[in-house]
Amino acid sequence: MNDTIKPLVAGNWKMNGLTADLDEFRAMCQRMTPALAKKADCMICGPATLLSRLKGVAGEGPITVGGQDCHAARNGAHTGDISAPMLADAGASAVIVGHSERRADHGETSQDVRNKAMAAWSSGLTAIICVGETEAERKAGQAIPVVSDQLIQSVPDGAQAENTVIAYEPVWAIGTGLTPTTDDVAEMHAAARKVLIDRIGEEGNKVRLLYGGSVKPANAAALMAVEDVNGALVGGASLKASDFMAIVETYN
Ligand code: PEP
Repeated sequence: MNDTIKPLVAGNWKMNGLTADLDEFRAMCQRMTPALAKKADCMICGPATLLSRLKGVAGEGPITVGGQDCHAARNGAHTGDISAPMLADAGASAVIVGHSERRADHGETSQDVRNKAMAAWSSGLTAIICVGETEAERKAGQAIPVVSDQLIQSVPDGAQAENTVIAYEPVWAIGTGLTPTTDDVAEMHAAARKVLIDRIGEEGNKVRLLYGGSVKPANAAALMAVEDVNGALVGGASLKASDFMAIVETYN
């Protein structure tokens, strides 16, 4: 584990979350002790409809809130889309960009992701840039080249640790209960670290590299202990306070 980078555990609620689910978030905020907050940062990326209410529950406490996508433009004729200034206005401090579900369902390219990351920065948001290979790409021995290329194309010039987080999420591990071996995670994170350093210089050593894909309380400690894993992006297990906080508490 890299002791110089403060880890981040971010939850991605995806298209889940109604008013009643604010109670789960309230329970997370109550369980996030000051001692734990010193050891790890914690965030929930909720649906846009709940963001301002999530922020209302979080107040100035240690759990921050983020969005799940933003448009590259600040405003305009883009029915149904949400912009980075809107997310910031609702209380978000970060936004996920390039999640594989957006790359697959909405045809987003790495160039789109890069533009969205720059839009996030313009509104003072941290961009959580997701990359990851498909099962076919891994089976073909292409996982590292695919993810390296996604990183090169998706991370804008000028990325810094304070405005950028990378999430490595193998597509085949998302929502499936499958995870790579810890050796595979270590190999990928080492490769990603090298690409980041080549891309943005010494700053690449400071950018947080999260692992995402079926992180659960039962496997979190082993995954979070892997070299160059600086936290987790958690989908399904972030919907329940007991599961999500058990993952955050691996840093206790
Ligand atoms: C995700 O979608 O970012 C994710 C990691 O999902 P899950 O934890 O459910 O695999």
